[in-house]
Amino acid sequence: MINLDTIRHGLEHSEFFLEYQPIIDLDQGRCVGAEALVRWQRPTGVLLPDDFIPLIEKTPLSGLVAYWVIDQVAKELGGWLQAQQGVEMHINVPPEILGRGGLEYAAQKSGLQDVKDKIVLEITERGVPDQIGLDALDYAARHGIRLALDDVRIDPASMLILSRSNVSIIKIDKSALQDIGDGGAPPWAETLAVLLKTTDIKVIAEGVETAEQLAVLKAAGVRRAQGFYFSPALRADLFLRYFERQA
Ligand code: C2E
Ligand code: CA
Ligand code: CA
Repeated sequence: MINLDTIRHGLEHSEFFLEYQPIIDLDQGRCVGAEALVRWQRPTGVLLPDDFIPLIEKTPLSGLVAYWVIDQVAKELGGWLQAQQGVEMHINVPPEILGRGGLEYAAQKSGLQDVKDKIVLEITERGVPDQIGLDALDYAARHGIRLALDDVRIDPASMLILSRSNVSIIKIDKSALQDIGDGGAPPWAETLAVLLKTTDIKVIAEGVETAEQLAVLKAAGVRRAQGFYFSPALRADLFLRYFERQA
């Protein structure tokens, strides 16, 4: 049974762990960072976040999970973040916990505050158009926190949100890539190319699985990507090995 009590119990009993999915710079052809993704080790197997993160959204547990992730990233890859230049670590946070002070406290306590310029907080677009999300964006801009807008769809409505916000990094939802088959570039590739040419917004494509998808993204001017084509999410030690191999 999965409910708030079992999730809290799992968190308190060290059943959660992190995997890191490499982020690839397409120009340099090498790993320049990772996105931390939470998993839950249950007696029956590993649960992926889609099975439990939605349950904790807008509850106090979502803050606790975020603080745990920060702490865990600091423990596992804090040293790596200190030592490496030009890398970044992406952490998923629900927009409602930005600006409450807890994040700063967790970052300070863990030591991640020292590598603040290498941390990117990913917040999902569905949370952004409401007031909490807009406040979060403003808060981040005022405090020098780097934010990425997650799961962005390249359509006129999203473009409007983007043009109004001070977001500097967007992640294209992996569903967009499903349009790319043998038929060449989908209509949104042109919209994306224009966005990349006319703004300073940085784009990361996620869910890249095939060479065809990669070619369309590169042609549109996308310079960063992640996905199974490069690597799945890896435990910290394997991620470090992956990074070293590419360096
Ligand atoms: P997301 O942030 O969009 O993360 C990307 C998801 O796509 C991950 O699923 C990743 O494993 C998956 N993925 C990566 N490459 C590929 C690919 O080539 N093909 C396909 N089909 N999928 C790929 P995951 O790990 O199951 O995470 C699901 C969602 O759970 C994440 O979506 C994120 O919104 C949320 N999440 C993950 N970790 C955390 C966390 O620590 N805190 C919070 N609040 N949410 C988290
Ligand atoms: Ca994400
Ligand atoms: Ca995403």
